[in-house]
Amino acid sequence: MKRILITGALGQIGSELTVKLRDIYGTDNVIATDIRKDEETEGPFETLDVSDDYKMYEIAKKHEVDTIIHLAALLSATAEKKPIFAWNLNMGGLVNALETARELNCQFFTPSSIGAFGPTTPKDNTPQDTIQRPTTMYGVNKVAGELLSDYYFQKFGVDTRGLRFPGLISYVTPPGGGTTDYAVEIYYEAIRNGKYTSYIDKGTYMDMMYMPDALDAIVQLMEADPAQLKHRNSFNVTAMSFAPEEIAGEIQKHIGNFELNYNVDPARQQIADSWPNSIDATAAKEEWGFKTIYNLQTMTVDMLEKLSAKL
Ligand code: NAD
Repeated sequence: MKRILITGALGQIGSELTVKLRDIYGTDNVIATDIRKDEETEGPFETLDVSDDYKMYEIAKKHEVDTIIHLAALLSATAEKKPIFAWNLNMGGLVNALETARELNCQFFTPSSIGAFGPTTPKDNTPQDTIQRPTTMYGVNKVAGELLSDYYFQKFGVDTRGLRFPGLISYVTPPGGGTTDYAVEIYYEAIRNGKYTSYIDKGTYMDMMYMPDALDAIVQLMEADPAQLKHRNSFNVTAMSFAPEEIAGEIQKHIGNFELNYNVDPARQQIADSWPNSIDATAAKEEWGFKTIYNLQTMTVDMLEKLSAKL
């Protein structure tokens, strides 16, 4: 990675990844793009709708990028409300980004998700290679995306790499319509109001990771020796698995009177129930040294500290 184009760069991951990559590779070497305009951050920025294949190619060519990090997508809960729109954006954008990478000989990264698993996947310690029959449009897109990325590697030699991210928790940019968003909202509401009403039910376990660990994982995977990669698209990665009452319990250690209530949203609960309780990241550890720093305890300390200062 020397000159990098990011799509969807103003989202939950992109806003922080852009800053991190600029720190490592130099501000001018990271070209942020998004369908929305960026008025604030410094550094190269282009407005780009990923459905516009010609413009994507032109921007990548103009900036002479050697890496494309494709983040623009509709997330699980939103995709379920607008499935055909999600198919067109998630698959169309991905094909355009892969084609640009093929034509300009770029390294390529796009995230998959724990949403690529479904109700028939083994729920506990979900293996790297296992049954993937998701029941959401988002999951269908992610499985197809993993396969398409593998295809571009095998057929055209594009250096594609990917991670199956769990729910990502961060304090900079709010999440954009996923099923695990409650695990971010709970911290905001704990600080603002001392209570939170969860749309995910008690006892529902999902994998999660703190954003600094997710950003490190992207850089580490992209810099990994390709000879070591048996898998490419996409590696299971996770840092923790918890249910709403456990994150609430952790917050209560710092905000004693914090109160958790439930008002379960059937649509998002159904998605959560179709996903694993916890996934196995052994392949990522063995093939490129994946590791995390934060667990539920240390993440909670950092989230509460950072958000208290922000809010
Ligand atoms: P987000 O919703 O926060 O951001 C998506 C960005 O894409 C937004 O800035 C939006 O303006 C932009 N966008 C939307 N339509 C566009 C278009 N047509 N053209 C260009 N840009 C467009 O999403 P995120 O959380 O940053 O997720 C990025 C990627 O990571 C997605 O592929 C998502 O599926 C994956 N992922 C995220 C998580 C998570 O917890 N955040 C977990 C697993 C996987």
